[in-house]
Amino acid sequence: MHNLSDPIISLNGLGPKAQDKLNNIGIYNLEHFLFHLPLRYQNKTKFTSLDDAQSGSEVLVQLMIDRIEEAATRQRQLLCYLSDENNRTLLLRFFHFNQYQKQQLVRGDIIQCFGEIKIGRDGLEMHHPEYRLISKNQPNLLEKTLSPIYPLTGNIHQAQLKKWINVALETLKKSPLSDNFENLAKNSMPSLKQALETLHHPKEGENIDQIAEFRHISQQRLIIEELCAQQLSLLKLKNERKSKISNIFKISNSLSKQLSKNLGFELTNAQQKSIDEINTDLASNHPMLRLLQGDVGSGKTIVAVFACLQAAANGFQTAVMAPTEILASQHLQGFLNYLEPLGIKVAFLTGSQNSSERSEQLEKIESGSAQVVIGTHALFQESVKFNKLGLVVVDEQHKFGVHQRLSLAQKAHNTPHQLVMTATPIPRSLTMSAYADLDSSIIDELPPGRMPIKTIALSSERKGEVIKKIKQVCGSGNQVYWVCTLIEESEALRAESATNTHQYLQESLPSLSVVLIHGKMHKDEKSEIMDKFSQGEIHVLVATTVIEVGVNVPNASLMVIENSERLGLAQLHQLRGRVGRGADASICILMYQAPLSANATERLDILRQTNDGFMIANKDLELRGPGEILGTQQTGIADMKIANIVRDGYLLKQVRYYSEQFLNLSEDNQQALINRWITDDKSQYANT
Ligand code: ADP
Ligand code: MG
Repeated sequence: MHNLSDPIISLNGLGPKAQDKLNNIGIYNLEHFLFHLPLRYQNKTKFTSLDDAQSGSEVLVQLMIDRIEEAATRQRQLLCYLSDENNRTLLLRFFHFNQYQKQQLVRGDIIQCFGEIKIGRDGLEMHHPEYRLISKNQPNLLEKTLSPIYPLTGNIHQAQLKKWINVALETLKKSPLSDNFENLAKNSMPSLKQALETLHHPKEGENIDQIAEFRHISQQRLIIEELCAQQLSLLKLKNERKSKISNIFKISNSLSKQLSKNLGFELTNAQQKSIDEINTDLASNHPMLRLLQGDVGSGKTIVAVFACLQAAANGFQTAVMAPTEILASQHLQGFLNYLEPLGIKVAFLTGSQNSSERSEQLEKIESGSAQVVIGTHALFQESVKFNKLGLVVVDEQHKFGVHQRLSLAQKAHNTPHQLVMTATPIPRSLTMSAYADLDSSIIDELPPGRMPIKTIALSSERKGEVIKKIKQVCGSGNQVYWVCTLIEESEALRAESATNTHQYLQESLPSLSVVLIHGKMHKDEKSEIMDKFSQGEIHVLVATTVIEVGVNVPNASLMVIENSERLGLAQLHQLRGRVGRGADASICILMYQAPLSANATERLDILRQTNDGFMIANKDLELRGPGEILGTQQTGIADMKIANIVRDGYLLKQVRYYSEQFLNLSEDNQQALINRWITDDKSQYANT
């Protein structure tokens, strides 16, 4: 007899290859099989009469064999004609068959078939049905419950998987399954055992439509439990971090005061509040891990600069990490402007520096002569040694994976404080389940005096009008971004299509300076172009999406986005956020290829209606799911066993309630819940 904790390799017919495949999707022991839930169900609980058999539906029938023949068509076919007592007929077609199979089908025998009904030339047909020859005493196809269809992995067959899961279900009948949730729910929900049995083998009469919509109480129970497990595991991470010791920064006001004086603007209340929250964290001896959220243009950078000052005042280095070279150079300029007058030295590190530039910078970092280090992924490399790293700032968090974040943190003696900035506001439901291990500060107001960006959608046939608008904008001394978003296979193709657009614009705007920038260019060339654009020497910057994040040129007041229908909401909002940074009224023109799909129309409409990044993020979550917003590296939440943040958002209140209940239980009980649901951590099963 089996136990639920038995490794799956102990099952009959399950070899090392299948084991590997199943391990990959988090199935290590029999209990994990219980949580591999059906995608859908087949109904073999009753026979359907041919009168009721509808085209496209899957039915079980029991009929008599009338006649068998091989069709003389080009492709060999086995045809088996069946009929019922009222002479209604069904034709079975087999495109692959062998002689043995053919001989088994005997006129006058009773046969059961399960398959999809199709309409052929001469009436009802089934192709390659599952069948049993009842006259030959083959086991009945009739089932007591609906039959599950499981998601497959590797080349494991449905029938094998079903057999193994059934062993697990049999074992479940005789084994206790710890179920703290049941105690907490006080019988308001089915027990774990009941819920699993119902979902694997729903009885006829169970509400299948509800199950198909994931709204059945047995599903709700599991969804809530899984989301609780997810949250608990993140809270545990947070507690572990809070139990670590970090460097205490003594908060000093002298540098901050100087910086405030040099700024030329007043901080918004939201910025000041974020700075205060960060300072409180820095002054504690536990490592900070804070998410700074704010819409594009809300002024996150300066908040990070204030944090750098505290590190510097306490003799610690800060690493500032950006996702692209352009953004890293832009930060370099910005940070230098603020920090140099205060006597703080800055080093710069990217992947494309030559070896002498590089070793010069590495020396500054290792010796500690640079207090702030700005760079790209290059900051993670082994050869980078910090003198005294105390603070890590990560810009545009969702472009980096969790692991990259960690590897930088490991470069410090004590766990450094970390500030993570994200330009895509993250919907609350996501923060709860994907970022519950982080504290969060939100900049929810824009600096004063910003004019809302007017957004217009125009079919690409109206390019002429756009050209006119560009002339007008540049005539009044402002600048223009033109973004080519053709989604090509390669950066080379993207560059080529941008090159064509560039040519067209140059010809249409002979008196203006129109310059192209794309990802294939050398970084020196790129930064030279960006410099010229910031200085106002270029009127129209034609770009691929390399300018997506962070670039800041307040004098640019018109943004044209080609093929905007192909981009997601968050990305379009990011791009649009490149304008509207100065005092002049700005416009964003979303050009599209007609006709628009319903979904694309909805997306463009949302952008025309609102400038509010949080609202847009919520819509994006609805339309595209969490994977797109968090990026592929942020797994875990994308491959949960049953829950889906978007679909199940309406359950979050209950999730919160039960999470709190779980937090009152013992450490062991909490860990048991986490281990049950979060099985992608292989180390847990290293000994099995
Ligand atoms: P983001 O949040 O998108 O990273 P930035 O930090 O790049 O935004 O800031 C956008 C622009 O707003 C910059 O030019 C910055 O100098 C300016 N800015 C930031 N804070 C304020 C403020 N309180 N008042 C006026 N301008 C500000
Ligand atoms: Mg920014």
